[in-house]
Amino acid sequence: MEVQTLILGAGAAGLMCAAHAGPGVLVVDHAKSPGEKIRISGGGRCNFTNMGVEPERFLSANPHFAKSALHRYTQWDFLGLVQAHGIAWHEKTLGQLFCDGKATQIVDMLRAEMAGAELWLGTEVGEVTHDGTRFRVMLTRAGQRVEVKAKSLVLATGGLSIPKMGATGLAYRIAQQFGHALVPTRPGLVPFTFTGTPLDRLKALAGVATPARVTCGGTAFDEALLFTHRGLSGPAILQISSYWAEGDSVTLDLDPGGQLLNALKAARKAEGRKAPLTHLAQHLPQRLAAAILPEDAPPRLADCGDAVLNRIVEGCRDWTMTPAGTEGYRTAEVTLGGIDTDGLSSKTMESRHVPGLYAIGEAVDVTGWLGGYNFQWAWSSGWAAGQAIAAR
Ligand code: FAD
Repeated sequence: MEVQTLILGAGAAGLMCAAHAGPGVLVVDHAKSPGEKIRISGGGRCNFTNMGVEPERFLSANPHFAKSALHRYTQWDFLGLVQAHGIAWHEKTLGQLFCDGKATQIVDMLRAEMAGAELWLGTEVGEVTHDGTRFRVMLTRAGQRVEVKAKSLVLATGGLSIPKMGATGLAYRIAQQFGHALVPTRPGLVPFTFTGTPLDRLKALAGVATPARVTCGGTAFDEALLFTHRGLSGPAILQISSYWAEGDSVTLDLDPGGQLLNALKAARKAEGRKAPLTHLAQHLPQRLAAAILPEDAPPRLADCGDAVLNRIVEGCRDWTMTPAGTEGYRTAEVTLGGIDTDGLSSKTMESRHVPGLYAIGEAVDVTGWLGGYNFQWAWSSGWAAGQAIAAR
């Protein structure tokens, strides 16, 4: 069987590419349904992009690589598509755009956009070769082996995150086979795990969520933090995890606004008869406030000297701890690293080694922040490759 374009992976990037790659497109995936990560994303409502998309909010060994595609197919382009399909949406916090209804609306929208393409699900990908002009790919579908010849081959099988959902390293293997280098991969947007005494301290607070500033190296995020039975999670932790390397410490500041000391001093004047815990619990969740309050704090706020108030605030502001590790690919939202961008054109996503070979989406060494950035990269890179393929 012969097609113009064979796209491996019917995820966010593959579907977007299929919608723009012109006629003769076949998309294959070993999953039973397309866009499974879209379906489960954003708590079932899909955080499909972010109003604050900027190249600086993406990690890559080459920080300039993502610029071209992100500028040529922007968050506003994708939002325009969503609106043209009559999908209701809303902005949550920090520029994050979600569907009002179900995330499957986005999958249905992409399926409608790629109506001219063929989609084979439940299909295993075997040997891939290139005979100088065409790719030959062995596929197994419903027990039948089929050789597909294609002028263009698109690697869109994503990263290693959530193997239970069918994530594999297929794009990496094929890219390597054709001479592409890989940037070492690691889990990103992932909770931290702790052991020993730090874990005991965190475990005691499991279930507590609070706003925090989390810092690692020179990078900081102000978002919610969640204490868990295994350590730390929540958006602030997921964000910083992409900047964390084994052995690095992270610092939590549970008074990110820096207002607590003044508030305690004002309360000491106005409501001195109250217990310090009563006031602290107006700023922090009750269980966290109780854990932070020094055991020897006087029972009345009026009797707390500046030294005690300073100790309370210090207890909030400087939790420096070293994670033992992360929860790994099992729960990571994304994979950092991947196909080295040095081997790809930033305009078209085409291989510099093999004409007609393209890599898009999470398989490439471009990883966004939490908040719709990773889907935007899938849309932008998928669109860029699709345009280029249609023009071949
Ligand atoms: P994928 O969407 O992973 O698609 C890859 C496709 O390739 C899959 O369909 C897979 O079945 C197929 N495949 C893999 N291996 C093979 C193989 N060997 N043979 C055949 N087919 C194969 N990002 C956001 O921007 N906003 C969010 O709200 C958000 N929420 C998320 C929630 C969760 C729980 C997770 C895990 C991720 C979330 N992400 C979110 C990240 C986002 O889902 C990914 O960055 C995005 O899906 C990457 O798109 P992709 O097309 O490159 O890869």
